[in-house]
Amino acid sequence: MDMTNNDIELIVKQVLASLSGDAPAAQPAKAAPAAAAGIPATAHVAMLTKKEHFDIQEYPIPELGDDDILVKVEGCGVCGTDGHEFARDPFGLIPVVLGHEGTGEIVKMGKNVKKDSAGKPLAIGDKVVTCMIFKDNPDITMFDLNKQNVGGADVYGLLPDDDKHLNGWFSDYLLVRGGSTIFNVSDLDLDSRILIEPCAVLIHAVERAKTTGILRFNSRVVIQGCGPIGLICIAVLRTMGTENIVAVDGNAKRLEVAKKMGACATVNFRDYQGVEALAGAVKDAFGGYLADFAFQCTGSPAGHSNVYKFIRNGGGLCELGFFINGGDATINPHFDICSKEITTVGSWVYTLRDYATTFDFLKRAKAIGLPLQELITHRFPLSEINEALAVNLRQEGLKIAVVNK
Ligand SMILES: [Zn+2]
Repeated sequence: MDMTNNDIELIVKQVLASLSGDAPAAQPAKAAPAAAAGIPATAHVAMLTKKEHFDIQEYPIPELGDDDILVKVEGCGVCGTDGHEFARDPFGLIPVVLGHEGTGEIVKMGKNVKKDSAGKPLAIGDKVVTCMIFKDNPDITMFDLNKQNVGGADVYGLLPDDDKHLNGWFSDYLLVRGGSTIFNVSDLDLDSRILIEPCAVLIHAVERAKTTGILRFNSRVVIQGCGPIGLICIAVLRTMGTENIVAVDGNAKRLEVAKKMGACATVNFRDYQGVEALAGAVKDAFGGYLADFAFQCTGSPAGHSNVYKFIRNGGGLCELGFFINGGDATINPHFDICSKEITTVGSWVYTLRDYATTFDFLKRAKAIGLPLQELITHRFPLSEINEALAVNLRQEGLKIAVVNK
């Protein structure tokens, strides 16, 4: 099935119309079209030419098709996926321009481009993000929570190189081709825009968790794993009104950030010998109760095995830590699932609908004072992208970003 831009626009409009009516976002001051006048003849991309090595390469900026958009890249987060591809090329994409958590400013548009995928007008100077590139799978365009996530779709930053080369956000210009989803997010600051993609992962996970019927306003929720994913999970729960949150990690610095994101108590697993003692500490942190619900945000098999011990009888679990295959985990089906009647959901990436929800989440998080921007601990210019990825692989800091300024 072939989706035209009009079809996509229609579907997204229907979905957005069906979303519950939140307070409308404040209208931003219109950004000045800074770069409109001076588009250079060439662009720079960070091309991964072999494992653990990007070359900064220069290519002519191609002529735009009538449905294409040229974006001047402002910044892009480094994802765990980028780290895997950089170190081992598991997707076999080399040579490739990586970077899918990017954002930038429209500097040129084909004559057919009038609106974004949600029906918002688009103009030179608008700040945008992309989501998936539509191919021929109608299920991923359904936007329904129970429909397929976008895991199988193409995204800029994970495309094979082609004759235009401007395919990823680790660059100074990106060519957004007709048939892509693009959103006008001029009302979000740069840090928020860099965090959209990882935040959408957590919006989706919490939506998945809600389908169990167990997650409620006053639920006691344990978050295991305080990397960016676990930390954003805490922030998403806080913006939804859940306050009884205990964070578990082995890194004291990350647990401090967990408190800033809204955790009311933290447990450092290094302070406890054995899972019974650890589960006891979680229970103490909730004032003598086990968790109603747990989010497992580590990629560690031991983490998965342990998490059941933190959950009360009849509680729920969302497993979202294994973004890639991290190996098998051992559980005891009798004690961990059956006799406790635990309801589990898995979560991976997001649906397109979650993207629109994410924009609202970021505004709400800011409004209640959650310092999400503190998740971006390192910023590198494009010229230092090899170092940016090395820092990511060494797991220093939280979110690493490449910023073109
Ligand atoms: Zn990512």
